Amino acid sequence: MQRTNGDPEMAKIKRVITEQATMQPTWGQNLPKCFIPLEWEFDSLLSRNIPLITMEQMERINYLQPVRPLTEEELKVFLKFQHSVGRILYFDEANLDQHIILSPTHLIDAFKSIVTDRGFCDGDTKRLESWDLMSKKGIIEKKSIDKIWKKKKYIKFKDHKEYLLGVMTHLDILVEPKRYDESQTRIPAEFYYVASMVRTNDTTGYLISPTFTQSNIAIAFSHSSSMIPPALSFRFISYCLSIFAVKKYGQKDDELLFHRSAVFNIDQSLDMCVNCDDEIIVVRLVHLRNRTLIMRDLASSIRECLAVALEKISQLYVKTSSTDFVASKSSFNLSLCCSSSDDPCLLPKSTLQQQDGSWICPKHGIEHTKDMMSWAIQKDEIQCGKGCPVTDAEFLEQIPSDIHLRRLSMQYSINETKELAMHLGMDYQTWDDLHVTFREEPERLKFEALIKTVVGTHLTFNDIRKAVEFDKVRSIHSLCKVVRGNLIDFDQEPEKWDLVPTEEHLDRVAPLVGNNSLSFLVELGLEFRTWEEIKYRQSERDLVKLNRHILQEWKTNFCLFHNIRPSLRDIGKAFNNIGKNIRIIENVLADLL
Ligand SMILES: [Zn+2]
Ligand SMILES: [Zn+2]
Repeated sequence: MQRTNGDPEMAKIKRVITEQATMQPTWGQNLPKCFIPLEWEFDSLLSRNIPLITMEQMERINYLQPVRPLTEEELKVFLKFQHSVGRILYFDEANLDQHIILSPTHLIDAFKSIVTDRGFCDGDTKRLESWDLMSKKGIIEKKSIDKIWKKKKYIKFKDHKEYLLGVMTHLDILVEPKRYDESQTRIPAEFYYVASMVRTNDTTGYLISPTFTQSNIAIAFSHSSSMIPPALSFRFISYCLSIFAVKKYGQKDDELLFHRSAVFNIDQSLDMCVNCDDEIIVVRLVHLRNRTLIMRDLASSIRECLAVALEKISQLYVKTSSTDFVASKSSFNLSLCCSSSDDPCLLPKSTLQQQDGSWICPKHGIEHTKDMMSWAIQKDEIQCGKGCPVTDAEFLEQIPSDIHLRRLSMQYSINETKELAMHLGMDYQTWDDLHVTFREEPERLKFEALIKTVVGTHLTFNDIRKAVEFDKVRSIHSLCKVVRGNLIDFDQEPEKWDLVPTEEHLDRVAPLVGNNSLSFLVELGLEFRTWEEIKYRQSERDLVKLNRHILQEWKTNFCLFHNIRPSLRDIGKAFNNIGKNIRIIENVLADLL
């Protein structure tokens, strides 16, 4: 990626784009004037009924601008900005970045043509069959879409078939189930899931089996000010479909995908059950044997990914609909939900945090131990014991390496880093220069500041300790955190950890990282520069995609560049160093190892 440090106007727009991803659209921004002619071109194309153009056409239009065509990177920024305010659809993703949808309704029309009402299928048996399949099982076969779009009136969709279906998949409107070949590499599936079209309800008895209560733990998301629209629950279920496989159940091995509810496989002994209604979304983790066997590290990662996804989905919903559903930042309230599936009791997060011992739910009298409930809230800080390295003279003599400084810099704010760096001998001018260079990249700024003070001056951990102590910036135990990796027990069968991770492995591991993406990246050995690049590309907040992207970057680029043979062991180590138990990886990959 080309840098734009030289152009403050572009840097500002980039910041707006990043903010757009997490906030409501900000109208009335002062945009660069060079954007205006291209906006006029878009209006003109739309007035001529051209809803979609290719990148090639876009470049030609740009090139013909009389005043000054945008550079390649400026053009990308322009498109991303237009996308972020909802004017066009443009995705800076492999396979999707060669087209631009000028009229977002074009995409909606394309989707409607696939899932139109049953009434419109009259006299068209093939289409009727496909409609029934969709409403019963929530799936549409790819060949049915081919047939529909062969019709003359849909030729405009057929011409850009791969792209349009790619966008629908990207937005989780359609979900392509994950299929792999024998080498665990992704291969295309024959159908898509369409969660919004399922009309059937769950009559399998899964939720009312006699052991259900003792085998699940649950959380609930409720909205602070309004009902949860069905469309939002469909998107949430679609999101889960894009990560986990649907569970098959009962004598006929039916897939558990229903109207506003579904059950997914997490690993061989664990399911995740999602139920949405107008008031709450309940997410349950269901263990094959007993709820006490569910690992909290796994549960909390899943909670983190789902909570972030839900916020993102609700913001997307606000942007694309005109109903009075209001979503502001953090609009969903998390509660602990009791283990009964029949009119469950809720314990709000604020009360949960103060809860000292077990919680016995009022309506059912079920006991939920503190340990069982701990996945719903953030993990506590680990307290240092007697053997803490900051009291160890030998440790203190060491010179910190890159990874130590990366871990250290992540704990400090920009101001704290500045104080620390100054105390370690950095002059103001150097800090100021760094600040200008990396003002858009806070993680790099902090790291570069630390590395500049340490490298060449042979500063040791002890020097840093003294500076930290003197400034009282942070507890000196911020230092021991940089070396505190828990001992890993790589099991009795070490060979399996030597496997080269496959696509299927990476797909399954990504959700387990939860919201520890940055630390995970650092523990894999990647640099903050990579983080900034990945984060900019992944401006739509989706933790699972982000984590998956990090893993891919590590496997394909980092390992190749450093001539390292990637192994599951490396992933296991990084996972352990972000404070998670590697047993989770073992469980989730059990059938593949
Ligand atoms: Zn209860
Ligand atoms: Zn300590």
